[in-house]
Amino acid sequence: MLIYTHPACLQHDPGRAHAESPQRLHAVLDALRGLPQERMEWREAPAASRDQLAMAHTRRLLDAVLIEPLSFPHQLDADTVMSQGSAQAALLAVGAVLGAVDAICGEHPDTPARQAFCAVRPPGHHATMSTPMGFCLFNAVAVAARQAVLIHGMERVAIVDFDVHHGNGTQAIVEHDPRILYLSSHQLPLYPDSGGADERGVGNVFNAPLPAGADGEAFRRAWRETLLPELDRFQPQLILVSAGFDGHWLDPLAGLLLKEADYAWIARELLSAADQHCGGRLISTLEGGYSLSALGSSAAAYVEAQLSR
Ligand SMILES: [Zn+2]
Repeated sequence: MLIYTHPACLQHDPGRAHAESPQRLHAVLDALRGLPQERMEWREAPAASRDQLAMAHTRRLLDAVLIEPLSFPHQLDADTVMSQGSAQAALLAVGAVLGAVDAICGEHPDTPARQAFCAVRPPGHHATMSTPMGFCLFNAVAVAARQAVLIHGMERVAIVDFDVHHGNGTQAIVEHDPRILYLSSHQLPLYPDSGGADERGVGNVFNAPLPAGADGEAFRRAWRETLLPELDRFQPQLILVSAGFDGHWLDPLAGLLLKEADYAWIARELLSAADQHCGGRLISTLEGGYSLSALGSSAAAYVEAQLSR
């Protein structure tokens, strides 16, 4: 399994009191380093280019993030803040997923690995085509899905999102593109308050909202009965995952009751779907997760389940 990360992802600093802190990435990296390393290959994330970002984003968004402001901290919305190192971190967070797509889906793969986990930040799934929001600057999974379609010629790419928040940005970017499937479970009502089951895109979007207090059993039922059958029907050639761990019961920003075992379960289910449909190609990237201890142990459970099959 490939693990993509970059030390510069620690340089994005939205402020001392901000939940999306550099310590989050330290927690994930420490936990991943504690796993057996034999089947993990660590790689330095490359930076995404402007042309790559333009596959999913407008010039307005690129300028908002990449043109250096007069001063820092630079507030993009009520909870999305940039520091000196933020633009570079955001380029690397996207580049990590693109690097994984190229390594695993390219015509001449340089690795036998078929799974990757990108330990990067800032997260991405709230960023729309033209607007950074909700801690997110660029939408890494949306750019990566387009890369798989436009550069690698794939006809069916699935994006799976189990972050506790709805990936409104991802959905908005792909909902008119039948080559890309978007599946999400999330707490509703909760920020950004989208993701109702009636939001269906062009038949390529499936949302399974969960009420506050929903536990692992409800989460697994939503995936087993509603979302995974759609993944099977779609027969993806690649599965990209917005892996947010803020559905954990300890998370301070939300109210689901998931445990580490639930993240290991979804990892096994997704890997089994990837084995069945696309030669095991499963690429995950870190989204949310704001309890430092739960984030580390949940990300490790998710990765370990893929290592130890
Ligand atoms: Zn989240």
